[in-house]
Amino acid sequence: MSQKKKSSNTFIIVLTLLVFASIAVFVVLNSNNQKENEPGTEFSEQPSLEKQPRLGEKDASVKVVEFGDFKCPACKAWGESIYPQLVDDYVESGQVEFGYINVLFHGEESTLGSAAAEAVLKLEPESYWDFHKKLFAEQPENDHDTVWLTVDKIQEVAAETTGIAAEDLEAAMQTEAVVEEVNKDTSLVEEYEIQLTPTIMVNEVMIEDPFDYEKIKSVIDEALEDQE
Ligand code: CA
Repeated sequence: MSQKKKSSNTFIIVLTLLVFASIAVFVVLNSNNQKENEPGTEFSEQPSLEKQPRLGEKDASVKVVEFGDFKCPACKAWGESIYPQLVDDYVESGQVEFGYINVLFHGEESTLGSAAAEAVLKLEPESYWDFHKKLFAEQPENDHDTVWLTVDKIQEVAAETTGIAAEDLEAAMQTEAVVEEVNKDTSLVEEYEIQLTPTIMVNEVMIEDPFDYEKIKSVIDEALEDQE
């Protein structure tokens, strides 16, 4: 093979590699773009809010559902940063109804918190959201792994936010009806293949990034327009 032929072969190989490399870059960029434009995964139906804690107008056409865990730091952060905006912008005006479903990703403490919340919802539904917010507020800011969600903590929070007697709350937490509600939430977690908490759904759409409020708003606005 002559020197000239060899160098032209090398040139062709390099050129081919460059073409493939640029195609690969294009494909990756393109799929990232597509991801950015998608609001999230769309399911065939939204999770039912039957017997769930709900906030806002029952007949609001748009439902926002949080799959959350009292023991999860990101849920506390979401509740303090995104949730108040959602309530101000959409729930108070009656456009959106908000609901909450328990996720038990942090073992015994998640289970205790969920059972307590379900018991409060059953015994004194009007106090539910105060209890819910206060329990999240009690989650330690820095030391997430410390054991804090205990029966004592639940009783302390219930005493501050509800009129339920300690023994009534403790008894209600053991009842079959409450255990059934906790199990029902776990079935929904499995059905919707929840991987992360919080997971936020707007009607049938599972939002990719729960902290992207602009995206949440755009999905809500689109759903509201569809109803008109
Ligand atoms: Ca529930």
